[in-house]
Amino acid sequence: MERDLFAEAKVLDLVAFLENYLGNGKKEGKSYRFTACPQCGQSSAKSEKLSVTAGNSGTQHYRCYRCGAAGTIIDAAMAIWGVHEPLEAAKILLGENAPRAVVIKRSDSKPAEPANDPQAMTAAITRIRQVTANQNIDDPRWRKAVAYLVEERCIPKAVVQEAMKRLILGFIPDDVSNAAQFLERSVGREILEASGLWKPGKKIPGISFRPIVSFFPKLTSAEFRIARSPVEGEKKAMRYGVGSYPWFWRGSNPAATMLVEGAIDIMSAVALGYEGNILGLPGANSWQPEMLEAYQMKNPQTQVYHICTDNDVNQKDNPGRMWAIKLKGIIEKNLRKRADITLPESGDLNDALRRRNKT
Ligand SMILES: [Zn+2]
Repeated sequence: MERDLFAEAKVLDLVAFLENYLGNGKKEGKSYRFTACPQCGQSSAKSEKLSVTAGNSGTQHYRCYRCGAAGTIIDAAMAIWGVHEPLEAAKILLGENAPRAVVIKRSDSKPAEPANDPQAMTAAITRIRQVTANQNIDDPRWRKAVAYLVEERCIPKAVVQEAMKRLILGFIPDDVSNAAQFLERSVGREILEASGLWKPGKKIPGISFRPIVSFFPKLTSAEFRIARSPVEGEKKAMRYGVGSYPWFWRGSNPAATMLVEGAIDIMSAVALGYEGNILGLPGANSWQPEMLEAYQMKNPQTQVYHICTDNDVNQKDNPGRMWAIKLKGIIEKNLRKRADITLPESGDLNDALRRRNKT
């Protein structure tokens, strides 16, 4: 059955969505009042000009008594995010930022932590994405996280900004207690606990220490990364949620697709001037050959694949190179397309970018 993305988006909570952008609503009987409007903005703090009510069908609507704007969560999202297509807004609300990338769910990926409740996890990740949409890259609250990507990882600010605009990347505050407050206020303790992101007995959610957030398509999974080099035994990035799809970056040349490992390497590939589409595979153990077949079917213009996994020269059997050879075999045999292995000299694509910037 075809999915009705509008119907799915319209059951999302309009009040909670508006509160991310317009401040807290005030409950009055069965409706909520706001002093700001998605269309005409904030008026005086005292004039409650916007009301949100649930219709007979259960869909919530807003109406502004000042400018006359009215609609559902989709209209609100279009106005707030500056999106022109209703379907696009519905997809963003639902986390479908890569509708044509890959349709087959991979079942063998191992989440970093078992989620208590996958629906609560998706709800939590969706909320985090809503509140991190449209962030200002120059906001001092995530200055360190941005500086880590731009200065230490050598990713140009414009590329970081584009990844934010594409809703692949978002930030929670650098400061741990601010991050915890930000999460509790925007997601709510109940959902954080139900999802397993906030462990029982802990003072704050563990992800408060990991300000760099990369969202996988469909929002069943997200990766939280520290904004510095890890200390011994510490994991750079933690992935939460189940069965994630690869990250996807649409380029200007539909004939070529690069396969890289992880979100930072997607941005590194863009920074190095790659013009094709880019698929960011979340890890060697979390993908299936069917994923590539589905991608080729959805993107039939693809003629050549550039495989750019890590070149793990210091590890036994070089797992990145082994993986590249496996991918090449699948692309040539199952997809009947050309596949070139173009591994970095050593390390990952981001190492290559940093080497280039040093010379
Ligand atoms: Zn208005």
